[in-house]
Amino acid sequence: MSLKEIRARVQVAAEAHGRRAESVTLIAVSKVQPNARVEAILEEGHRVFGENKVQEAAGKWPDFRERYEGIELHLIGPLQTNKARQAMGLAQAIHSLDRPKLANTIARLAQELGACPDLFIQVNTGEEPQKAGIPPLELDDFVAECRKMDLPVKGLMCIPPVNEEASLHFALLAKMAARNGLDGLSMGMSDDFEKAISFGATHVRVGSAIFGARDYSAAG
Ligand SMILES: *Cc1c(COP(=O)(O)O)cnc(C)c1O
Repeated sequence: MSLKEIRARVQVAAEAHGRRAESVTLIAVSKVQPNARVEAILEEGHRVFGENKVQEAAGKWPDFRERYEGIELHLIGPLQTNKARQAMGLAQAIHSLDRPKLANTIARLAQELGACPDLFIQVNTGEEPQKAGIPPLELDDFVAECRKMDLPVKGLMCIPPVNEEASLHFALLAKMAARNGLDGLSMGMSDDFEKAISFGATHVRVGSAIFGARDYSAAG
C-alpha cells in the first residue's frame, strides 16, 4: 500500500470520529527497511519516522537529516538505560518510557543536556510477562513520579497482545490517559490503526503497510 493511501485512510478514520486528520500523527516505522525504501518515502515529503533500535537509528538517520530538512524521529522500541543518552541525541520523541530506572536516567540527562525528547509512557495493558511496559495498576503513581522529575510526558503508548481484541486495549489506554490528564495516545499499527484512531489515537505507528513486509534476513 502506498503512503498516500495510508494518509487517506488516516483522514477518513479521523473524520469519521469528528476529528481533523491533523490531529493524528502518522509515524512511518522504518525499522529494518532498506534505505532506498525509506528514501522514497522522504521524497514523497513524509518527515515523521519511527525506529525500534538506537543503534539502527544512529546508523541511518544522521545521513538522512543532512539531506532532508524537518525530520522527526520517534524511538518506539525498548530502551536500555546505557543507550538513553544516544537516544536523546537522536530522537524527538521516545515512546518506550517503561520503568522508574529509565525515568531517573532520562531526568538526569535532561538536566545535563538542557533538553529532553517528548516522552510517552509504555503501558503493558495486557499484563503480559514478556512484554515491556508499566502495569496498569502502577501507572498513576508512575505518571506522578515522572511529573515530579519534570519529565515532558506527553502521553501513553501500548502494544496490545496479539491474540486479543485490540479495541479493549485502546479503550483502556485512552481511559488511563484521560484520568492522568495526558493528551497523547500512541497506539495502532498496520493492522489496526483505523480502530486506534476511533479510540482517540494521536500517534499511529505504521510500518509494513507503508513500506511493505520487513525482510529481517536482508537486514542481518
Ligand atoms: C514494528 C513496530 C510497529 C509497526 O508495525 P507494523 O505492523 O509493521 O505496522 C509499531 N510499533 C512498534 C512498537 C513496533 O515495534
